[in-house]
Amino acid sequence: MDLTDNIRKIRAQLDAAAVAAGRDPASVTLLAATKTQSSGTIRAAVSAGIRVCGENRVQELAAHLADGAYGGAEVHFIGHLQTNKVKDVVGRVALIHSVSSERLLRAIAARADKLGLVQDILLEVNLAGEASKDGFSPGDTPAAAALAAGLGGVRLRGLMCIPPAAVNPGDNLPFFQKLRQLAVDIRREMVHNGEDMDVLSMGMSGDYADAVAAGSTCVRVGSALFGPRPPMLSTQLKGDPSI
Ligand SMILES: *Cc1c(COP(=O)(O)O)cnc(C)c1O
Repeated sequence: MDLTDNIRKIRAQLDAAAVAAGRDPASVTLLAATKTQSSGTIRAAVSAGIRVCGENRVQELAAHLADGAYGGAEVHFIGHLQTNKVKDVVGRVALIHSVSSERLLRAIAARADKLGLVQDILLEVNLAGEASKDGFSPGDTPAAAALAAGLGGVRLRGLMCIPPAAVNPGDNLPFFQKLRQLAVDIRREMVHNGEDMDVLSMGMSGDYADAVAAGSTCVRVGSALFGPRPPMLSTQLKGDPSI
């Protein structure tokens, strides 16, 4: 496993997919999904050129922040977030990708208000209606977006999805296209601050090129960067089909 090689290879594929879709490669961020990785590995990834790290677990986020593991990289939260852990995340990360319920949305906005800041967020959409996953249904997402737009403590930056684990290459393309269309529709309806919605967080190790073809601006890549992960406890797996 050579991080520098992996980054170079993935970046080249992202750039090629962007160009093939008539997009600017600079509009696609490679986020390193760092769950289960050590502070040392994160430091190495940042030295090798990673500019954005995504954490799944509040505990790991706290530990890596305390270690100064991220160096100059931006940190995002991408995992299942419990309402009672909101205080450990709001104001500590540049973007929360995984806002998956109205209750969580309100809790994040309230915490941000209390701290006197505005937290950037994405709404997580459960496109396939999978019971094992968090997220708003596509039908509920516009109302959630309208709610977010009206809450002072949050700024809605876009949408995120974790589609079903793909069996064949191309399987997830329809899901990615659906998320993009949903974002376009919501942006059109939100006349005052629709321009803030410039993030589409979609694509993981198995399907990042398809995600970029469909308009992803942020691919979240773990195993293709760092190699296979050790198994996690089932309680940590919620919302994450990839382990
Ligand atoms: C683990 C994880 C990823 C990365 O998964 P890989 O398949 O290892 O690339 C992306 N997004 C979320 C939310 C994750 O939990």
